[in-house]
Amino acid sequence: MKNNQSIALNQALHSNSKTDIKEKILTGDRATGSLHLGHYVGSLQKRVKLQHQYEQTILVADMQGLTDNGHNPQKVSSNILNVVADYLAAGIDPLKTTICLQSGIPALAELTMYYSNLVSISRLERNPTVKTEIKSKSFGRSIPAGFLTYPISQAADITAFKATLVPVGEDQLPMLEQTNEIVRRLNHIAQQDILVECKPLLSKVSRLPSVDGKSKMSKSMGNSIMLSSSEKDIRKAVKAMYTDPNHLRVCDPGKIEGNVVFTYLDAFHQDQNYVANLKAQYSAGGLGDGTVKKILEECLQDLLKPIRQRREEFIADRSQLIAILKAGTERSQDESNEVLRQVKSAFGLNLF
Ligand code: ATP
Ligand code: MG
Repeated sequence: MKNNQSIALNQALHSNSKTDIKEKILTGDRATGSLHLGHYVGSLQKRVKLQHQYEQTILVADMQGLTDNGHNPQKVSSNILNVVADYLAAGIDPLKTTICLQSGIPALAELTMYYSNLVSISRLERNPTVKTEIKSKSFGRSIPAGFLTYPISQAADITAFKATLVPVGEDQLPMLEQTNEIVRRLNHIAQQDILVECKPLLSKVSRLPSVDGKSKMSKSMGNSIMLSSSEKDIRKAVKAMYTDPNHLRVCDPGKIEGNVVFTYLDAFHQDQNYVANLKAQYSAGGLGDGTVKKILEECLQDLLKPIRQRREEFIADRSQLIAILKAGTERSQDESNEVLRQVKSAFGLNLF
């Protein structure tokens, strides 16, 4: 980044000149790896659009990343700037969106502690997303306490910014339900509306499957196409993509449902009429997997090439990434401290 541009960015990042807009957006990602196509269609693309209309904060959730990586904290620390570079490469503008780091905002940990008195263990154990994750991570009874309670920490993140809109993938819906339960309990104790309830903002593709079609695309499961994937990796992933196992010869009729290649074409191809024609041909017989995969590969290469190139520039300027994150984090502290003050006072803890 050129010097004068860098100075202007720094000044703007430290100013508190956001307009007073009613709806506030808070969303975030665990710092457990670089971002993938699921993030892009599930939430990131939406955030890029929304930043022009709303006051938006994006949280790099490093503390939440530790909840299943306590034994391997380096996985989290080494991915913080990767996530920030992915945001910028995808089009998040730090002059419009506040990008902040969860561990740099102590009020979030304090709020988590207060809220944890409002939620029972059995309620946490009923959370369907957490249930699935516990199973896939084979925790058994050795589940870290932080992992079981991470929905509470997420409630702290959302409420600390009084967010009303949360652009998320489908897996996060139970977290927002849990958040709103906490909001209602806290407001009941306070006998006034200190906190606000939030609404999810789901996109057209709110659960992108993994390349093998077995689960959702997920950073932690190594089943993803990353925004930073090389041309070669994209080609390899598309080649290995799950289709219809019974579609053996080109002339055989093929199944669209559960066919990951078509799910991705639905999610990423610009011309949906063209995709509808492909589906009709494939179902009738006469269209080979190789041809459809080639079309998908081209579409993903076109989408990811400019993102990958921008990302390379951002990742090369580490100090700029840190400056953006630090400025956003500092700007978020006052706001969350004020919510913490109100929550403490709802519990009568306001002697000084
Ligand atoms: P991890 O495996 O570490 O949990 P993840 O890939 O699930 O990582 P998160 O950081 O947990 O990513 O999720 C960040 C946001 O991206 C959430 O809003 C989540 O709903 C959304 N998201 C993640 N994976 C997908 C997906 N496959 N499809 C749509 N949205 C997704
Ligand atoms: Mg996740």
